[in-house]
Amino acid sequence: MDSGKKEENILGMSSQYIRGVGPARQKLLSRLGIETVDDLIRHYPRGYYDRSSFVSIESASPGETVTISGEILASHSRKLGPGRSMFTVAVDDGTGALQLVFFNQPYLEKYFHKGSTVVASGRIKLYRDTKQMAGPEWEIAGDGDDEQLLNAGRIVPVYPLTAGISQRMMRRIVKAALDRAGGMIPENLPGGIVSGMGFVGREEAVSQIHYPDDEARREGALRRWKFEEVFFLHLLLRERRIIVREGRRRPGIEPPHILAHRFLEKLPFDLTRAQKRVLKEIRADVESEKGLSRLLQGDVGSGKTVVGLASMLLAVGAGYQSAMMAPTEILAQQHAMKIEKYLDRFDVTTALLIGSMRQAEKKAVQKRLASGEIDLIVGTHALIQESISFRQLGLAVIDEQHRFGVRQRAILGSGDLLPHFLVMTATPLPRSLAQTVYGDLDLSVIDEMPFGRRSVRTELVLPEGTEAVYESVRAGMREGRQAFILYPLVEESEALELKAATEEFEHLSAEEFSGFPIGLLHGRMSFEEKMRAISMFRSGEILGLVTTTVIEVGVDMPNASVLLVNHPERFGLAQLHQLRGRIGRRGSGGVCYLFVGEDTAGRARERLEMFASTDDGFRVAEIDLEMRGPGEVWGTRQSGYPSFRLINPLSDNDLVLRSWKESENLLSADPGLESPENRVVVDYFRRYYKGRMELADIG
Ligand code: ADP
Ligand code: MG
Repeated sequence: MDSGKKEENILGMSSQYIRGVGPARQKLLSRLGIETVDDLIRHYPRGYYDRSSFVSIESASPGETVTISGEILASHSRKLGPGRSMFTVAVDDGTGALQLVFFNQPYLEKYFHKGSTVVASGRIKLYRDTKQMAGPEWEIAGDGDDEQLLNAGRIVPVYPLTAGISQRMMRRIVKAALDRAGGMIPENLPGGIVSGMGFVGREEAVSQIHYPDDEARREGALRRWKFEEVFFLHLLLRERRIIVREGRRRPGIEPPHILAHRFLEKLPFDLTRAQKRVLKEIRADVESEKGLSRLLQGDVGSGKTVVGLASMLLAVGAGYQSAMMAPTEILAQQHAMKIEKYLDRFDVTTALLIGSMRQAEKKAVQKRLASGEIDLIVGTHALIQESISFRQLGLAVIDEQHRFGVRQRAILGSGDLLPHFLVMTATPLPRSLAQTVYGDLDLSVIDEMPFGRRSVRTELVLPEGTEAVYESVRAGMREGRQAFILYPLVEESEALELKAATEEFEHLSAEEFSGFPIGLLHGRMSFEEKMRAISMFRSGEILGLVTTTVIEVGVDMPNASVLLVNHPERFGLAQLHQLRGRIGRRGSGGVCYLFVGEDTAGRARERLEMFASTDDGFRVAEIDLEMRGPGEVWGTRQSGYPSFRLINPLSDNDLVLRSWKESENLLSADPGLESPENRVVVDYFRRYYKGRMELADIG
């Protein structure tokens, strides 16, 4: 009877057992987050070759994005400078010839053999009368399954890859998974929603997203996948709301709020109008029965921390404890230090709790939290370990929430008091995204900067301009001006990150910055080492900081006035904006240089140009979302969040709204999802979400 059991087995089976995978390749797949057959069939293409319509080279005109196929006539590699090279491949399809051009990828040489057939997809441009395609999607046509696909004149998927897995290999693996799981992909939406939304069934949607029959069907399938991503999340949000709130009341916090007022009076500055307005909204919430459940957005440097702290003091003043949770140890440490300074003359007992503290210290803090001795605590995830219990937590502030998803709302605990909470984010989320993810939170925005707002200029620098930039940075350093030198994480592997950062650091120390004191900061360093690098930078002992870890430098470095970004195209704009907000804080202004390669063209280039042209965080977030999608922008991939890869709340706002509504209809008609028609939803939750995300975690 139990066919459901079998389906579960196939989809939940390790992808290692798929034909063509095996243990070694499985390791590579894991880097892409692929562990099961289900993950494989959800490894969505990032693009397609429309092989049903190859274009002849002769007819391909400059400016057009096309797919061509031809014979490799010759290839040629040339050094342009230190670490820079250009590789060109001449291709002929009988109607004409074309050059494929690749920058700084000398290893490509071994793939392009004279006489082989290559398929390439990209934008045509004209360079000295020769047609070129710079940085195209490409593939060498071979034999076997792929040859059939190649020649079948159909739309073929192009998958995200990782080192060691070629496009052809990935295609074969995914195809094998699709064949294996065929007929066993269960529906997960109630029939009413499927028909109401005009969706195809789930099995059909899988097949059409990988091998679409045509564009319309691909779009139809895509819509369904997008809807799923947001719909199950919305169900979770609504369910969490029920679990979290059921039978719990919010802590009573009444005026006159003496402690918070005294704190504000003692501040060395006046709050901005926006800060005052938001604080008033917060105060009204904590005084009300519904309580505070609010998302506070504000650009980098808009002064969220002070508002967060004042909110905490509302609770402390009323006899409750209060907690602030930050995404990294360094940020937690920084907040704790600042808060201690602010509260110097106040009778408030504060503490810090981070994972890298000694066991005995942590134990001591835990005891003092449980006894109620500590009024106000700052920490990281360490605050939501099971061993932590507060005597009476009244209000929690979660800083920079977007960095880790929703798990940390576990801080809201499970007693009969539901703490007030404020989520602060420096990545301004457009309203529709906020709704996608937070659904039920009220929204406040600090849309004004404190006086003496920094002014940071952003410039794109082409390879020929880098030397001049280095020279001006050196000149600045001679006068004590400091610089961040940023490298992207190339692979999501710490070992590789370490190697890249260390090599670059050595290179820069020996070459561009020889004779200047520079330091290194990366994710593999211990907490102490990181703090040491940061404090040396802060004190001016070192003038340049080479770093790969964006999050870690999201801290105050008041003297840094220059930010050099290598491979800026690999960063999220929101991240870059955060970093840019960290320089030039002392009124002197700052410069952010984006080192763009010659091969950074098209949309990638356009995106950076738009970034350089605006200093408005909201605009930046919108550009980023439009161009990269929320999975990237929001970093949901590493956070244990259900995958969120296809939907873009900006352009798919209609789906977001529909989903929010459908989830409400479903739960209000059948709160326990008990009717037979809704079993599919429950089964899906069990199968898919259960292992990845404990419901309790987000409550
Ligand atoms: P955010 O967390 O929003 O990026 P912070 O809270 O770290 O910003 O504030 C940035 C800096 O501005 C801090 O040094 C803070 O003390 C200062 N600051 C905050 N509010 C004001 C204000 N109203 N007037 C002047 N300085 C302020
Ligand atoms: Mg902050």
